[in-house]
Amino acid sequence: MGLDRFAPPHSLGSSHSDTRMIREAYYHDSHYTPLVNTAFDYWTDLETRSGRRLLQTTGALTIGQPESFGFSSSLQSIVENGSEFEGLASEELHNRYPVFTPDPQTFAIYEHRAGVLSPEHCIETLLEEAEAAGANLRFNEPMINWRAFRGGIEIQTENATYQTRRLAVATGAWTTGLFPDLPISLEVERTVQHWFEPATVDATPHFAPNVCPPWVWEYGPKSTWYGFPKTTRGIKVGMHVQQGRLTQIECLDRNVAPHEESTMRQVLARFMPSASGPTIESSVCMYTKTPDEDFILDRHPDCSEIVIFAGGSGHAFKFALVLGELVSDLLTDQDPAHNIQHFRLTRF
Ligand SMILES: Cc1cc2nc3c(=O)[nH]c(=O)nc-3n(C[C@H](O)[C@H](O)[C@H](O)COP(=O)(O)OP(=O)(O)OC[C@H]3O[C@@H](n4cnc5c(N)ncnc54)[C@H](O)[C@@H]3O)c2cc1C
Repeated sequence: MGLDRFAPPHSLGSSHSDTRMIREAYYHDSHYTPLVNTAFDYWTDLETRSGRRLLQTTGALTIGQPESFGFSSSLQSIVENGSEFEGLASEELHNRYPVFTPDPQTFAIYEHRAGVLSPEHCIETLLEEAEAAGANLRFNEPMINWRAFRGGIEIQTENATYQTRRLAVATGAWTTGLFPDLPISLEVERTVQHWFEPATVDATPHFAPNVCPPWVWEYGPKSTWYGFPKTTRGIKVGMHVQQGRLTQIECLDRNVAPHEESTMRQVLARFMPSASGPTIESSVCMYTKTPDEDFILDRHPDCSEIVIFAGGSGHAFKFALVLGELVSDLLTDQDPAHNIQHFRLTRF
């Protein structure tokens, strides 16, 4: 049985808004790279099984100063993984992708095996598979409480009380409210995404997905922005670091203030003026962050029948299928298919 507070795919958590990047250049740590490789295989398998297009291969750019942490560690991870990539100096970057206007000391890594996942379609497809395999999906039914009960768990929702032997929890920004005693504080960071039209008609073809790959661009300490090629909804851009405001899910401000759009436009004026056309839409999302930005995937410390995934920290979507497999391994008392030491609660 699967319960959700809302009816997924929905836009009230952290897994919405058309696009999520999947790439091998990984600045968090090299332990993610084998998981990315498996994730690519699993998404491709899911596409084959479902007959749906979920992953668009576009390549991806990691842009920054060679000496900065984010850029240098991304380069290291892609070299260690033996992935196919090209290094581009500032001028080459601009010549190949004229919409990018980098400073002269900027470099870019173009990785070939990278792309864009469609989160809503991925979620829809997974839910259909789960239902076809016999899952009873109950939406708009939040778990409001739980307790250990006769070697299992008793779950209380607004509608009913259920008893189960095992429970997997992946409640994103709501996790702390359900498990206030976990030995870790999860921070909810509010982030904003914007969709703009290209500034001129002439610029529009340069933002097509087969012409312009998605990018992550570190332009200073704790200053990173990202963007995606144009979809029917426009060019999506956002700040990955530094714009975020810490909050709690219960008081998340879902309105976008004018200064948030002007901050984004200042970045575009410097690095991509032709993406700063009329505003189509802006919306709020959130990262649920652990102190080290590595995920949590572990058994509950006081109730081993509960397995928790939390703390996606702004980079978990691409791993969803691998994380699901690992959760299932723990639920069924099997050795995890991958090393999960970095995700254990005991690291705190
Ligand atoms: C703007 C933005 C850009 C991102 N870009 C990328 C990217 O390019 N690549 C990438 O890999 N990752 C990216 N991420 C991160 C990734 O999207 C998230 O880490 C991941 O989607 C989080 O998934 P989740 O299941 O933990 O949380 P959520 O998607 O929020 O899901 C939690 C679910 O739990 C349900 N729930 C909550 N409480 C209860 C309850 N009490 N009972 C029942 N159900 C409950 C909610 O309704 C929700 O459906 C991005 C995140 C954001 C916000």
